[in-house]
Amino acid sequence: MWDASKCDLCGDCLTKCLYIDYDREKAVSDIKALMEGKESEIVSRCITCCACREYCPTGADPLSLIISAVEKAGVFPISEEELTKTSFEAPTEVIPGDATRPALSICTMERYISEGALDGQLFEGMTLVKGGDYYCLIGWEHFGKESSIEKYARRFIDNLASLNKDIVFLHDDCYAMVHAKVKDYGIEVPFKYMHIFEYLRNYLRDHRSSISSLGKKIAYQQPCASRYTPEKNVFLDEILELIGVERPPRKYERETALCCTAPIIASRLEMAVEFQEKNVRDAIECGADALVTLCPVCDRVMRRPTGQLGLTKIYITDLCRIALGEKPWPAEAS
Ligand code: SF4
Ligand code: SF4
Repeated sequence: MWDASKCDLCGDCLTKCLYIDYDREKAVSDIKALMEGKESEIVSRCITCCACREYCPTGADPLSLIISAVEKAGVFPISEEELTKTSFEAPTEVIPGDATRPALSICTMERYISEGALDGQLFEGMTLVKGGDYYCLIGWEHFGKESSIEKYARRFIDNLASLNKDIVFLHDDCYAMVHAKVKDYGIEVPFKYMHIFEYLRNYLRDHRSSISSLGKKIAYQQPCASRYTPEKNVFLDEILELIGVERPPRKYERETALCCTAPIIASRLEMAVEFQEKNVRDAIECGADALVTLCPVCDRVMRRPTGQLGLTKIYITDLCRIALGEKPWPAEAS
């Protein structure tokens, strides 16, 4: 949530933005205008990648300021009613597992998850939770609906709490919502939860003898919502170490990661394709054997550019399944 008292007008949020070319003076002038409720160019230029939340050194949350202005300006014509209809009406299902195992929440991501990515020993016996009742809302930032997220946040937490289970979040957005966003609204989370990275790290730690070191290099496609919880990169780094995979440095990773471009494919296709290609070429140049994804939407979006440029793409759970001997390394770009 935007906190004007923390903003010292340093301009970092917009000078670091990878989708505009602002100098410090222009950055400060746009942020000042937003703070004063005046028109600001960034409202129409922002692609809603969420990165400025991480760029801000003081925790003022310029992302929230910008998305609120985007909402006020009505940049995205979709109404809250249309969004709730498409988000909440996805069929809800709870497939029970062992009472002693946590639940795996996949939100509304089922249609994007590649076939077999949740098969095998990793998720055996877990309760599977999916559908509109567990939709996590943060994605509405990509539609400029900042106030609607707060309006339905309690619904999201209450629905999860009613499961009476510990929860593992496959969807990065859900984790960001529970771990960061709802705290802004003063909502307490009455259940235990963890991110899929921590779960996979723990599983691999406990099954070291089943792992075959892969001896590969990968580039990682970070989801937008990770800007709320960048600290969990340590879990990914340990997963990769456990399975013998290197993550060579590249230009567009960690703080300087590029968005998969899902938020702008419908409105700015040419720009989306340009940034997808920049991203994949950078991954290839760093020597990666594959691009590894976490968000099922990123996974779907990056299928075309990785396939066209000849880079293999692997979903994170599949990468772990390969290391556990459940799947072969893909023969070619997929
Ligand atoms: S959300 Fe992304 S595109 Fe928008 S201003 Fe922040 S860094 Fe730039
Ligand atoms: S929001 Fe943060 S990064 Fe942006 S000008 Fe203010 S303090 Fe600097």
